[in-house]
Amino acid sequence: MTETAEVVIVGGGAMGASVAWHLRELGLTDVVLLERDSLASGSTSKSAGGIRAQFADELNVRIALRSLDEFERMEGIDLRQDGYLFLLDDEADVARFQAALALQHSLGVPSRELSIEEALEIVPQLDPEGLLAATFCDLDGYATPEAVVQWYARGLDVRQGCEVTGIDVAGGRVAGVETAKGRIATEVVVCCAGAWSSEVAAMAGVEIPVRGEPRWMFFTPEDGGLPERLPLTIDFTSGFYFHREGPGLVFGGREQTLEALAEPAARRLPALLDLPVQSSWWGYYEVSPDHNAIVGEAAEPSRFLYATGFSGHGFQQAPAVGEHVAELVAGREPTLDLSAFALERFARGESRPEAFVI
Ligand SMILES: Cc1cc2nc3c(=O)[nH]c(=O)nc-3n(C[C@H](O)[C@H](O)[C@H](O)COP(=O)(O)OP(=O)(O)OC[C@H]3O[C@@H](n4cnc5c(N)ncnc54)[C@H](O)[C@@H]3O)c2cc1C
Repeated sequence: MTETAEVVIVGGGAMGASVAWHLRELGLTDVVLLERDSLASGSTSKSAGGIRAQFADELNVRIALRSLDEFERMEGIDLRQDGYLFLLDDEADVARFQAALALQHSLGVPSRELSIEEALEIVPQLDPEGLLAATFCDLDGYATPEAVVQWYARGLDVRQGCEVTGIDVAGGRVAGVETAKGRIATEVVVCCAGAWSSEVAAMAGVEIPVRGEPRWMFFTPEDGGLPERLPLTIDFTSGFYFHREGPGLVFGGREQTLEALAEPAARRLPALLDLPVQSSWWGYYEVSPDHNAIVGEAAEPSRFLYATGFSGHGFQQAPAVGEHVAELVAGREPTLDLSAFALERFARGESRPEAFVI
């Protein structure tokens, strides 16, 4: 006998778990979440866990505020609102960040520009060479991504070790999913497969332009005397960033090796060079052509929905985007209008770039 479900979600990362949780909040309980490996095993567990309202695109600021409300209600996710500190050494970036501060203020975000002296009061170990300005927001911070997924997943029908191998479409409508453990008949599929979303969407004949870009992170068990309340600090030009992790620090950037990352790291945080690196890991950013999310419902087949392309922000956007997708599934009026993030923008040759990508 073929199993049936009202909704099948593909991918058990932060996004899939959030969609499933929000569907249950809306009263939809016949929902199955399929994960080929284990919950959070994709990009979510590799993430720095950063959460910020300092974005340049108004929609991303709105998503951040809505998401933060939800993060603040979760217990056991180690939410630390120690701020995000952006360090700027390029005049054009300073102008962009000042314009974004005005936007953020108009939406109620308490972000602010700092002088270099003020930035050094927050992180005295920084080398200020070349810096022109900084911005800071103490709403921002980070949390533990796996804990967020577990918070969402309590009591949901989650199938781990269950890979989706095909999506059945009949008469322009979704009809079911094929999995390594059998078929599930369903009329609604939500693709939350992260960096693998283009493969999963292709199973339904939908083309999603997202690609995986490897990003590395490193952990040192020592903190080099950096402050206990350390913001997630980003050297914006190089992309080098760091934050506190228990007694030590985690740090990363765009470089693919520790040797390559050592150069921008040494330039901004020389103390890091003296600290032992205990472990490293990597994961994929699921990158879209304009570094903004790809979220919505396909024109065809009907009832194929997708949420991907977060380009480095998918963990923190999971609450509000998950809510949005659940509302689309349930036919509710969306709390946030995210229609500008729909796939169709690419077919129209449009883009909606987010400038503050790390
Ligand atoms: C080093 C690094 C640092 C980052 N830092 C941050 C940060 O500070 N803040 C932030 O917001 N974001 C950050 N990100 C990005 C963030 O991790 C992702 O945007 C986010 O985790 C995406 O969540 P997701 O649920 O969409 O995808 P994923 O967590 O990748 O989940 C997708 C899941 O789908 C599953 N899957 C794929 N194909 C199939 C299939 N056929 N059948 C069944 N299951 C399938 C995968 O196994 C995977 O578990 C970072 C990423 C990296 C790599």
